[in-house]
Amino acid sequence: METTQHMNYKQAVTAPIFQVISKSADNLGVDCYVIGGFVRDFVLGRGHKKDIDIVAIGSGIALAKQVAKNLPNHPKVQIFKTYGTAMINYEGVELEFVGARKESYNEDSRNPIVEDGTLEEDQNRRDFTINAMAISLNSTTYGTLLDPFDGRKDLSEKRIKTPLDPAITFSDDPLRMLRAIRFATQLDFEIEVASFKAIKEQSQRIEIITKERINVELQKILESKKPSIGFLLLEKTGLLERILPELTDLKGVDELEGQKHKDNFYHTLEVVDNICPHTDNVWLRWAALLHDIGKAPTKRFSKKVGWTFHGHELKGSKMVYFLFKRLKMPLNDKMKYVQKLVFMSSRPIVLAQENITDSAVRRLVFDAGEFAEDLMTLCEADITTKNPYKFKKYHHNFKLVREKIVEVEERDRLRDFQPPISGETIMKTFNLGPSREIGVIKEFIKEAILDGVIPNEPQKAFELMLKKGTDLGLKIADEK
Ligand code: ATP
Ligand code: MG
Repeated sequence: METTQHMNYKQAVTAPIFQVISKSADNLGVDCYVIGGFVRDFVLGRGHKKDIDIVAIGSGIALAKQVAKNLPNHPKVQIFKTYGTAMINYEGVELEFVGARKESYNEDSRNPIVEDGTLEEDQNRRDFTINAMAISLNSTTYGTLLDPFDGRKDLSEKRIKTPLDPAITFSDDPLRMLRAIRFATQLDFEIEVASFKAIKEQSQRIEIITKERINVELQKILESKKPSIGFLLLEKTGLLERILPELTDLKGVDELEGQKHKDNFYHTLEVVDNICPHTDNVWLRWAALLHDIGKAPTKRFSKKVGWTFHGHELKGSKMVYFLFKRLKMPLNDKMKYVQKLVFMSSRPIVLAQENITDSAVRRLVFDAGEFAEDLMTLCEADITTKNPYKFKKYHHNFKLVREKIVEVEERDRLRDFQPPISGETIMKTFNLGPSREIGVIKEFIKEAILDGVIPNEPQKAFELMLKKGTDLGLKIADEK
């Protein structure tokens, strides 16, 4: 450990902001360090860092105020009194200041008893060895790395490990179990055996964590390059069952009368991984994750047709609402988007298996509206067949569907379809009051457009209206 005390990491803290923090800490006579994710990512050679955590051996708030004073434009300091932390947003980077802490917990309370502590005590209460490394910012020791748990070794060996006894670390703050899995996913690291075992043993303690904090981690897992790493770990530790039972319900293969269905849990994870290279839209990734959840409650077996999941898309889209609500996710247009994609998730597949007609594509665009491309992306990711012939065929057919979508769009602009003939026009033309016939005619015109009988043009629609009205026995009003 002695050697690590003298490791020089000056090159990590060359940015001018660190000089300002250094000077401010010296002004106040407090020791301070950059710690956590910034240091970890530097050692990893993983650029970025939109947030930088600074720990002061003393008041984090006082240090933040001093830093703001020493910065040329005197940015605002946001103070969170209850946590004893302060934040400065400086040139798009969030600087978090916190006083070094020692925490102790008791079994029944979620709230730790927090006291001022030394740097070492603060490092002890950090979640993982790779997140506990600190670099000194005071002028006399500037750039010195303090790595008491050899986080660098765990970084080079790709390991997530708690600094202290994992049973205590996870029990003190069960959110750390999710963070372990999240970092394992983001960094493609292994969770060390004892830490993994402790998570497994304490998975039920996730219940005391707020849904909002759970969400942050789920979202980050889904935003990773290969989310299946995280979902498999969640499943193996027993956490998934407590957070997203809809997914664990998809596990398993049933066999009756020699007929099997696929394991929809592993299939789902494959779909999620498949979609990631094609989209960074986390809601589209959610749709991939949830596209089959309706299959568990709709699963049936009959001798004639084997396993079926009739209506699973509708059921699944309804479940999306309850799932979002339970997890306190937004019940807004994002949720509706996920619902719609789940609801329509089987539609293009039928197209890919059969001959693709214009009118089927037109109906798809009409129903999917602005989400048509995203739906196609989802369905392409949904092709997990191991039969190379089918794989090629489906992808080829989807390519044709995409081309047709563009064609149909150019011709008929169905995406946010407005009826080309208004109810008022129909009323005026046939001298009608509000009546059933108006709806009948409008529907007839819409169907004709979707079937490709007429293009989506007012003139053609008007002619069709005259014809349909006459067929219905309506009289054209005298023109005056
Ligand atoms: P990211 O790249 O996601 O920002 P990070 O490591 O910076 O990763 P933060 O959530 O920003 O993660 O937390 C900053 C640091 O605070 C962590 O590196 C870790 O040292 C510590 N930390 C955060 N949450 C916890 C926790 N629940 N328990 C213990 N330490 C934590
Ligand atoms: Mg951070």
